[in-house]
Amino acid sequence: WFNNVDLAPAIEVFQLTARYREDTDPHKVNLGVGAYRTDEGQPWVLPVVRNVEAMKAADQTLNHEYLPIVGKPDYRKAGVELLLGKASPAVTQNRVDAIQALGGTGALRIGFDFLKNRLGMDVIYISKPTWGNHRGIAKSLGYSKIVEYHYWNEEKMCLNFDGFKADLESAPPKSVIVLHACAHNPTGVDPTHEQWEQLAEIMKRKQLFPLFDCAYQGFATGDLDNDAWPVRRFVELGFEMFAAQSFSKNFGLYNERVGNLIFISSSSSSIPMIRSQMEIIVRTTWSNPPSHGCHIVATVLNNPSLRDEWETNLKTMANRILQMRQLLFDKLKVLGHRWQHVIDQKGMFSYTGLNKQQCDFLVNRKHIYLLGSGRVNMCGLTTKNMDYVAQAIHEALTT
Ligand code: PMP
Repeated sequence: WFNNVDLAPAIEVFQLTARYREDTDPHKVNLGVGAYRTDEGQPWVLPVVRNVEAMKAADQTLNHEYLPIVGKPDYRKAGVELLLGKASPAVTQNRVDAIQALGGTGALRIGFDFLKNRLGMDVIYISKPTWGNHRGIAKSLGYSKIVEYHYWNEEKMCLNFDGFKADLESAPPKSVIVLHACAHNPTGVDPTHEQWEQLAEIMKRKQLFPLFDCAYQGFATGDLDNDAWPVRRFVELGFEMFAAQSFSKNFGLYNERVGNLIFISSSSSSIPMIRSQMEIIVRTTWSNPPSHGCHIVATVLNNPSLRDEWETNLKTMANRILQMRQLLFDKLKVLGHRWQHVIDQKGMFSYTGLNKQQCDFLVNRKHIYLLGSGRVNMCGLTTKNMDYVAQAIHEALTT
């Protein structure tokens, strides 16, 4: 049966990490992986998460019974309120609900599934470039057209807003438009509020369906409300839409798979219907969600003092990224390069503009691991490796 099974292409980011691990050079730096690192280059368990885990370990009332198929109720509600705000018209009018999902990926998966198989949507637009899994998930669900909309202006290293708008203008009605709520992966470039207004106007007029991918709330500006602005604005404008929420990055709960698919309808009466269909999709996909991560998130979000502590932890991460952006900019300036984009870009990633050849040089000659597209994880930089990385980038640009 298995003799003709071909080897699937490697997933670049995981391959890069494997190569990094095997590398014995003392200067090696991993700028590939999409996870937070401390200034010591180590993964960080948020102190608030450690606290809740200790409380949880001591709690004899907890057990390992199945959760409801759609997830833990206080977790789902807290997720909705974090993204939309408690005063959101969708919240006060009971026009929103969430399905607990296996991270942002699981949320995208069940969201795309519902749109394709329950609403018959067949055309999906993703940004060019985007996080690689958007295409992969849409493809595996059989969308007949996966279209890339213009997003990045390579020459000017900024948003290609005219191209973006033109692509929305020409999209057929009922297309799904996947939008990054903030801290666009991989470019780190988000539309301004004014630009979001224009995008919303086109999407309304053209009957396009917004699906917000919200994987970095708190990472773009360090402010949770600010980072949720585009999603909240679309709700205010009366859109029916989906939002795929992930707590992987802002809680550092990567391997616990904590997410939500949030759905907003124009009427409260359709919420139970959507939820019941989602229940079937979940039942046949993973049947039942995991409990550890959602317990932590719900405990923190529903307790004011733990929530304050979390927001402080989140700011620690956001500020360290800002510091690394500034430091890299300063070091490269001294070496004769003006990398304004590294300061302007938001969130975990920077799209450096380094070409494939320059990236290969950094990987193969300098032991600095980054994606071939030139995307770097700013958290891979530390005060200790910054000089080495800046010098290596200088050499990549000049040799
Ligand atoms: N969307 C984007 C844009 C992402 O960058 C990520 C994480 N890399 C995700 C969704 C999904 O994250 P997870 O499934 O790990 O929660």
